[in-house]
Amino acid sequence: MKFVSTRGSEPYSFCDAVTRGLAPDGGLFVPETLPQLDLKKIVNGDFIAVAVETLRPFMEEDFTEKEIRLMTEKAFYFPIPLRKIDSQTSVLELFHGPTAAFKDIAAQFLGEMLSKINTDPDKTILVATSGDTGGAIAAAFDGRPGFRVVILFPKNGVSQLQKQQLTCWGHNIKSLAVEGSFDDCQRMVKSILSHSEYQSEFHLTSANSINIGRLLPQTCYYAASSLWWWAERKQKASYVIPTGNMGNAVAAFWARKMGFPIENIMMATNANKVIPEYFQSGHFEARASVATLANAMDVGNPSNFERLRYLHPERAELLSFSGAESVSDDEIRWTVREAHRKYGTIVCPHTATAFAIREKLPGNWIVVATAHPAKFSESIEPLIAEKIPVPPSLQELYHRPSKYDIILPEEKQVISVLGGS
Ligand SMILES: *Cc1c(COP(=O)(O)O)cnc(C)c1O
Repeated sequence: MKFVSTRGSEPYSFCDAVTRGLAPDGGLFVPETLPQLDLKKIVNGDFIAVAVETLRPFMEEDFTEKEIRLMTEKAFYFPIPLRKIDSQTSVLELFHGPTAAFKDIAAQFLGEMLSKINTDPDKTILVATSGDTGGAIAAAFDGRPGFRVVILFPKNGVSQLQKQQLTCWGHNIKSLAVEGSFDDCQRMVKSILSHSEYQSEFHLTSANSINIGRLLPQTCYYAASSLWWWAERKQKASYVIPTGNMGNAVAAFWARKMGFPIENIMMATNANKVIPEYFQSGHFEARASVATLANAMDVGNPSNFERLRYLHPERAELLSFSGAESVSDDEIRWTVREAHRKYGTIVCPHTATAFAIREKLPGNWIVVATAHPAKFSESIEPLIAEKIPVPPSLQELYHRPSKYDIILPEEKQVISVLGGS
């Protein structure tokens, strides 16, 4: 399998696409085709078996099946359960990794994979984060030989606990609090990565959801959960997905195109509604992001939209099985209370956007849960009047010392950090 740019470059191997991050023409790497799998072979497999079969066609030119299996086992070492909460609703819990957000799943896989293919002893991973990516990447690369991670996060755009997760790591992780928004962080990272002279001078690679190595592993949980759903109900699965930069959602669209039993895909956004607007009007117009309770989804210019449009250029076709709706902060608050009252489940503000949409839809749905509510106890606990138990892996992180530098949203400040340490 080769990978091409959404803007039409030459084909690249999987490893090249992962190492480059962004295609040389500024587009995003996508698989040349989406393979059709023989589902009968894996319908009764466990998560690892399904993941290996899902990833193999994309990776088999660069890795042996044994290597793919080993990376998969090492990366997906924590549970990814599909929990039924009533006869029509299940929750796909993606938050049992080391930093308690779904980004751990792909970050762990990327860590295993880059360790395997990297021959550069000074590789630098440059990452912009709206809250959770940076922590997940830091956890995946903390102390990994040959790697340095430089994280840019919006200084006033992350929760106290997210900030702790971005800044509590060892010497190979450098955190920069940017006096600006996530869009500023993402713009600087994209711009720096698109200069080939910086790439080679600072041995750069990216780990944002623009990296194909982040996106592909996420297809695994849609593959596996849709097969579980099928095995139990003899019915295709439909998902509501909390959506920001659209990495999570695009993985679902890819899994569907690969033939996994997936019917509908609904994207839930917060007040940043560029994607719902596209579904309504057919026009995509990037905007400045606005701050919301679901801060990891505060994205005004979702990068992976380009991948969705590449996969489904016809909006009418897209509308036939998918949609996107925006959820306000008030609805998020209401839904957090309602999910607790009605289902006895505590949800984070991101997951609440998906729950809010689910509540408006008839039929059977899988709600994708993207973060553990304990990460957002400041906003959630007052709503449900209950203490949220903190998982042990998080508790341990909270007690570490925190360190970071503050910078202005100027590219030259990032360059100086890249060159300086
Ligand atoms: C990143 C994130 C999202 C948004 O995912 P995208 O892939 O950027 O659409 C949603 N919820 C949480 C908790 C996140 O960390």
